[in-house]
Formats: sequence, structure tokens, C-alpha cells
Amino acid sequence: MSGSLSPRASLPPLPFVCAPGYPAAQAWLQALQAALPEERVVALDTLDADQRAACEVAIVANPQPADLRTLPRLQWVHSVWAGVERLVADLGDTDLRIVRLVDPQLADTMAEAVLAWTLYLHRDMPRYARQQAARQWLAHDGVRAQDRTVSLLGLGALGEASARRLLAAGFKVRGWSRTPRQMEGVQCHAGDAELPAMLAQTDILVCLLPLTPQTRGIVGAQALAALPAHASLINFARGPIVDDAALRAALDSGRLAHAVLDVFEQEPLPESSWQWAHPAVTVLPHISAPTDRATASAIVAGNIRRWRASGELPQAVDAARGY
Ligand code: NDP
Repeated sequence: MSGSLSPRASLPPLPFVCAPGYPAAQAWLQALQAALPEERVVALDTLDADQRAACEVAIVANPQPADLRTLPRLQWVHSVWAGVERLVADLGDTDLRIVRLVDPQLADTMAEAVLAWTLYLHRDMPRYARQQAARQWLAHDGVRAQDRTVSLLGLGALGEASARRLLAAGFKVRGWSRTPRQMEGVQCHAGDAELPAMLAQTDILVCLLPLTPQTRGIVGAQALAALPAHASLINFARGPIVDDAALRAALDSGRLAHAVLDVFEQEPLPESSWQWAHPAVTVLPHISAPTDRATASAIVAGNIRRWRASGELPQAVDAARGY
């Protein structure tokens, strides 16, 4: 750190670029400025052409690609979100390096959400809510956590933290990744060929994959049919990873017992969407793991400071891989 509490005059301004009308823009500017007192963190629209021409790095929150193209010397962007599929789709074929947020606090928040909604399904809460609505007093046999298998699609930063939390709660845990992984206590599977075997052993399937051309629609009719009857699904990753029509058919037929959905093809979920009223669906408004502004700002600050000092870039997204 520079030790100075005022911006260094020699540094070009550091733009924060977000979608137009983003309600948290001001709060982000304040948090980022507090984490980077030696920089001048500013909204993009306050910069003139000369200042824009000096910018080599920008901090972004779902920016419009056209806005980034007004920064001709831009080398890299640091996203304050973990999921960067839109940036990769829009700018992955340029030289721009895209760095996404990897924050242990975010992983912890997601792990908490995964455990919370796993317990919701494990303890049959949707069924008891339906019974209450029907004024029905009826107890069902329970299942022990150690007899329930929770499988994670994705064993990255979020999947790994979730696996640990589920193991600590006593569940059997399986996980699926693109490349082989090893995690104590977790039965790991890798690659398309090993997916059906995992699905066949799954009671609760939790999706924590990035959205890429390979994962789009991967939870479709085939995958859902590979699950045992009465399994459930939690999607906390991105809406298009689950094939909507296949999901609806699986829920309508009763083969899939319940779906907890935090993410959707279109957000906010349109009022006319079938998910709102489906008795076997829990709709959440993309709240499973909100970014913590303070911890995220500290991580972004550390990465930018390291780059300013040494030229060393944090690990960037592999555009060809899509995540
Ligand atoms: P990571 O990049 O750390 O992990 C991704 C995991 O998915 C890795 O294990 C990777 O395999 C695996 N994977 C990727 N592609 C494939 C594939 N084709 N087949 C099998 N496995 C695959 O991501 P994070 O854990 O940090 O985040 C995951 C996603 O969660 C984000 O992309 C974002 O969309 C979503 N998210 C949702 C939030 C919410 O509030 N709902 C909040 C934050 C993130 P490998 O290990 O081999 O690389």
C-alpha cells in the first residue's frame, strides 16, 4: 500500500463501469474508494476523452461493452461479480483480460445458502407448508442426513465451500467438475462421461456451474431423467443452465419432487412465468450469495495494488473455456 491517504496525482483515474441506472453504483464507488485511498475511483461518465485514453484498468459490475470500448488503452477489467458470462460472451474474443471476483466471504455466504435450502428439502418443509395450507396434521418418516446424498454440479470456489458445509452437516456429498478433483470426504466425478453415474446416486442436486456454451441447458431432460424419482434440484448458478421446459415437465410429472430456483433465464422473473405458481417450485430473487461490498472491495484493491506495483495480473478468465 502506498501509505498515502490521498490519491496519487501520477495515477490515471480508475473508472467504475456498471449498467446504466444501477442502483448500488454510488455505494460501490464509496466502498472501492475507501479500499483504494491512493487511487481516484470515479464513475465512467465523469471522465473526458483524454482521461479515458489514460485508463489501463477498470472495475466493472455488469458493464455495457460499448462503454468499455470508450477506453482505448484498457488492458484488463476486474469484475465485482463472480459470474462473468456476459463479459466473456461480449469481449472474450478481444485482448482484454477479464478478472472475476474470487472472495472467501462470497463462498461462505453461498455455502450457507446451499446448506439452508438443502435442509429445507431434507426436512420436507415444502410438504409441511402444503399440509398447513390444507389444515392437515400428518407426520411423515424422516431420513437421516447420512442417508441423503447431495451432489454438487461444479466444485470450484463456491462448490468446494458448499461441499465442506454439507459434509459438516452430516450429508453424503458428491461433486462434479470438468477436470478431475480430489476432496476429502467427497466422491468426485469429472467430465461428461461420469455425470450420469453421479446423478443416479443423487437425492438433492445443487447447481454451482458457470454459464458457458458447454453448461447451457446441461440440466435438461436427459440429466433430470438420470436422477432417481423424487430427487430435488437447487439452482444457485445461472438460469439457462437448467432447461426450463424439461424442468417443468419433470416437476409436472412428479418425477422431480421440488426445485429451489434463485436464478432465471430472465431476471427479474416476469410476472407471467410458470415458476411463480408451481406448487413444487420455490422462487428466490437471486439472493443466494450477494457480493459483500466491503470484502469484495478489499480483494479488488489488493489485486489492483499488486498490479500497479509489479505489473502482475491476477488470474484471468480463460475465454476459450468460458469461465
Ligand atoms: P469456479 O470457476 O470457481 O468453479 C466452476 C466449477 O464448475 C469448477 O469446478 C469447474 O470445473 C466446473 N465446470 C465448469 N464447466 C464445466 C463443465 N463443462 N463440466 C463440468 N464441470 C464444469 O466458479 P465459482 O464456484 O466461483 O462460481 C460458479 C458460478 O456461481 C458463477 O459462475 C456464477 O454464475 C454463480 N454465482 C451465483 C451467485 C448467486 O447469487 N446466485 C453468486 C455468485 C456466483 P474445474 O474444477 O475442472 O475447472
